[in-house]
Amino acid sequence: MKLEAVELIRLNVPLKSAFRTSFSSVNLHQVVWAHVITDQGEGWAECGANERPDYSSEYHTGAMAVMKEFIIPELFGLGNELTAEAVAPTLEWMKGHRMAKHALETSILDAQLRSQGISLAEYFGATKSKVPSGVSVGIMDSIDELLGYVGGYLKQGYVRIKLKIEPGWDYEAVKAVRDAFGDDIPLQVDANTAYTRDDFDLLKRLDEFNLLLIEQPLNEEDVLGHAKLANYIDTPVCLDESIVSADIARDAIELGAVEIINIKPSRVGGYLESVKIHDVAVANSIPVWCGGMLETGIGRAANLALAAMPGFTVVGDTSASSRYFETDLTEPFVLKDGYIDVPTKPGIGVDPIPEIIERFAVSREWIRA
Ligand SMILES: [Mg+2]
Repeated sequence: MKLEAVELIRLNVPLKSAFRTSFSSVNLHQVVWAHVITDQGEGWAECGANERPDYSSEYHTGAMAVMKEFIIPELFGLGNELTAEAVAPTLEWMKGHRMAKHALETSILDAQLRSQGISLAEYFGATKSKVPSGVSVGIMDSIDELLGYVGGYLKQGYVRIKLKIEPGWDYEAVKAVRDAFGDDIPLQVDANTAYTRDDFDLLKRLDEFNLLLIEQPLNEEDVLGHAKLANYIDTPVCLDESIVSADIARDAIELGAVEIINIKPSRVGGYLESVKIHDVAVANSIPVWCGGMLETGIGRAANLALAAMPGFTVVGDTSASSRYFETDLTEPFVLKDGYIDVPTKPGIGVDPIPEIIERFAVSREWIRA
């Protein structure tokens, strides 16, 4: 396969309602897509970076700059030797920038599999045709508002609820949800690094709610702190931001810092590294689940294929399109009895809808060989 051109598209997609985490509140999902043209056909992927470097150090303008200046020229340089499997070794010299690398590797993987007539799920050796769907509930202005949203999602059939938490919106919010909806609903929390090692007693109070897990309470670089916390609280500690590679996953497991792993392909540099993390976790009897970055259909489709692998035994965050968007940019993903179907068509299995791209695109830029 040979890379002929790359289109970088910036889109502003309105969200149904503001989504607030411990690090930001957004009304628009601002997103960058990579669209590659090869001699074997085209491919698409969504960059997981946010507009600002708030979830990780990467952000849109930076990710696009590193793609244009370093990543894309390296891939043009591969000539006829381009494959998705060749991308990571070719870019190995380049430190970090995993979300930028992921966008290119995944769009090339999409093109490769489309040309071979193989779905992403087949390529991964996925074993499920549908995956159970959880929902991530943002921080709200009031407990009443929170209960309204949680009740609505349960009614829609989501099989697991995740509450975003931060200092001041933790114990009371979880207690209110448990009091209103009972001890049996599968419930977990995500702090997105909002706590410190001084907060262990506060976090221990959450043990009484029998949560499935607490996700990334401490700074992403504080893996040892998570090991100490895992020892101190009963709620299983799950890492998200800290796990940027299979090597880090292995180390965190050995250190006792992680009992469940949230795999986000964009955060770890792509799906091929995600599969390695899955394999490390399975070998160590650590369950994994697939998290997300509020992806539109282009990113959501690929995450569903990954979540269909056998080690993904914990319910993930791959919700229906309607959770976030009035209009998705591909065919929508629909919740059926708590599950979402894994795409079966070649590649990521969905196609962007040109009219909707036109409506939401802020800029489109071509880089040619
Ligand atoms: Mg998270």
